This record gives sequence, structure tokens and C-alpha cells, in this order.
Amino acid sequence: MIRFQEDYSLKRFNTFGVEAKTKYYFEFTESEELVEFIKANESFTELNKLILGGGSNYLFISDFDGIVLHPAIPGIRVLGEDHQWVYIEAGAGVIWDDLVEYAVNEGWGGMENLSAIPGNIGATPVQNIGAYGAEAADVIHEVNLVMFSGERRQLTNPECQFGYRQSIFKNELRDQGVVTSVVFKLAKEPIFNLEYGAVKDAVEKLGEISLKNIRKAIIEIRDEKLPAPTKIGSGGSFFMNPVVDAIQYSELISNHPKMPSFKLSENEFKVAAGWLIDQCGWKGYRKGDAGVHDKQALVLVNHGNATGEEIARLACEIQLSVKKKFNIELYPEVIIVGKK
Ligand SMILES: Cc1cc2nc3c(=O)[nH]c(=O)nc-3n(C[C@H](O)[C@H](O)[C@H](O)COP(=O)(O)OP(=O)(O)OC[C@H]3O[C@@H](n4cnc5c(N)ncnc54)[C@H](O)[C@@H]3O)c2cc1C
Repeated sequence: MIRFQEDYSLKRFNTFGVEAKTKYYFEFTESEELVEFIKANESFTELNKLILGGGSNYLFISDFDGIVLHPAIPGIRVLGEDHQWVYIEAGAGVIWDDLVEYAVNEGWGGMENLSAIPGNIGATPVQNIGAYGAEAADVIHEVNLVMFSGERRQLTNPECQFGYRQSIFKNELRDQGVVTSVVFKLAKEPIFNLEYGAVKDAVEKLGEISLKNIRKAIIEIRDEKLPAPTKIGSGGSFFMNPVVDAIQYSELISNHPKMPSFKLSENEFKVAAGWLIDQCGWKGYRKGDAGVHDKQALVLVNHGNATGEEIARLACEIQLSVKKKFNIELYPEVIIVGKK
């Protein structure tokens, strides 16, 4: 089904659940439909474009003056296998966690630690989603795209230039094409990744170490910490964890010995943004329907009818208070769309 709409509401397409309209909206269920659409519309090149998957990483603060492209390409199919690996292709519109569940039920390993991350397959290589010691790059074999020129491209895993929440799609190929499907390589004999202590303990409580129990444990852990987008609007972690240099770090840690941090190199230390926000007293804060989650200060929430602007204003207040108390700049991880 091809769907083209004008002045279309994006409220049900973003996990914050805020109201915003797009000038044009195009939804397609086959990559060929996108190729045809690009060829048929001369003005396509000039339009502002926004690719919208599950909308779990966007905050809309005003209407979007351009075209939203929504890949709703379905389907999971096994492409082939050898003695060690199974290769499966999933359409960009498949819900990521549906694929994880399918792989776990089949007994194929590699995705289980990434259980319950919101969003669709198409965004997976872009974001290189990660959690509990695993990332999408570990299981991605190839990525198929339709470029905005109408040309098709296929990138292998090394060509995707994966890094921490990074990929070529956020850099060199940013805003140049749409991921239409992803091929994953899964292990027939899974190697369990229990490097996170909390996961190991939770799995052991469930009994044997298996893909199903790892998935179950991770879903339970996530449920305790993060609001499910179906219950309360959010975009997950709102800010990136900031990186400070060694001089600033030693000053910070001597003033705040309990500050959670991670050494990246001799001169770089990553600091937990959630802790900084919590120390400024924001956890559980609420103004109208915009608020800070009561269990995780890094998550900004929409309790019902907050506007994107109200949430963005709250984010600014948080940034200012962290800057004042710690002299640290926080940068959003969520993509803020609209006029500021
Ligand atoms: C409660 C919650 C918990 C979360 N937990 C985690 C976590 O543990 N780990 C983690 O890594 N992330 C996490 N996230 C963030 C989010 O789930 C991921 O970034 C996810 O990959 C976004 O998928 P999406 O389909 O919603 O993408 P969208 O929000 O729609 O888009 C995100 C980005 O991907 C691009 N994009 C989307 N689809 C395509 C496509 N087909 N082709 C090209 N570009 C595309 C968009 O242009 C945009 O830049 C969480 C979010 C929420 C709300």
C-alpha cells in the first residue's frame, strides 16, 4: 500500500507522543515504491527530508516543513545458512524487538542482549543500537539502501564504519538515503554474553543460562529502569554521557568521589549524565505534563499532553543547572526537530 498525505499528524509516530505535523508524508511497503516515487517527483531533491522509523529518537518541537519518509517494509526471511551461521533479512519496517524475539525462539544467538530496545530495523544500523555489552554491529552482515538519487546500494559490515552509536549513515551518508532492509548473521551455537553483572545475576535467578532466559532477564531489568513507550511517552536517554578531560575529571572526582565514570583514555573520562542530572535534584520533577522520570534522571517524559517545546524547555533548564553545578555541557542524544 502506498500512502501519500499532506499536513499529516506525526503524533502516533513518535514515542514522546507529542503533536506535530509534516507538510508531506510518504509511507511505502516495498523499496521499489520509493524508487518510483523519487523518479516521479522532480521536486524531491529540493524538499527537506526526514526518515521516520519508530520515532523513538525524535522530539518534535514544531511542525516539519518537508517530507517525512516512513519505510513500512515488512518481512523476515532466512537467506541461507552454513554450519556456523544463519543469514536473515528483515525489512526496514519490522519492529526490532519482534526480530530479536524471533531469533531467540529459533535458538540463534547474537541479538538477545539487545532485547526490548524500541524502534524499527531501518534505524538499527544508523544508530548502531547497543545495550548490555552488545551492539547491532556484532550481528549486521549487510545493509540495503535506496539513495535519494534513486540508486540502490548495498554496504557490507566494514563499509558501515560502525563505532559507539555511530555509523557511516550518521556521517558520510547522512541524509542521503533510506535503509530498506538489513541482513543479519546469527550464531547457530550461541556464545552467551553475561559480562554485565546485573544480567548474569538475573539470568541465574531464572535457572539455566539460555537465550530465552537472557532475553527475559534483560526485559525485566529494562522494565524496572526505563518507562515503556506504550505506557509513558519518552525518547529513552535524552542526553549523551559527557566526556571530560583529565584535569576536569580529577577536580570533579575529588569534589564528588561517588560520581560514576568510565576511563576512555589517559585524557578522556566519560561521566554518567543521569547522575549529574540527579545531583541537580531533577529526578521525578514535573511541570505540567513534561517531566523527568522518577527512576532514571536521564529520561525526560511526557505524562500526557506535554508539547515538544515544553519538553525541550525542560531539557534546557537541566542543561543550565548541570553547567552551573558541574561546569559540564550536556548534549541531546535525542534528535530535536523544528524551529527553536
Ligand atoms: C524507552 C527507550 C529506550 C531506549 N533504549 C535504547 C538502548 O538501550 N540502546 C540504544 O542504542 N537505543 C535506545 N533507545 C533509542 C532508540 O530505541 C534507538 O535509537 C532506535 O534505533 C531508534 O529506532 P526508530 O525506528 O525509532 O528510529 P527513529 O527515531 O525513527 O530514527 C532515528 C534515526 O535513525 C534514522 N533512520 C530511521 N530509520 C531509517 C531508515 N530506514 N533509513 C535511514 N535512516 C533511518 C532517522 O533518520 C534518525 O536519524 C531507546 C529509546 C527509548 C524510547
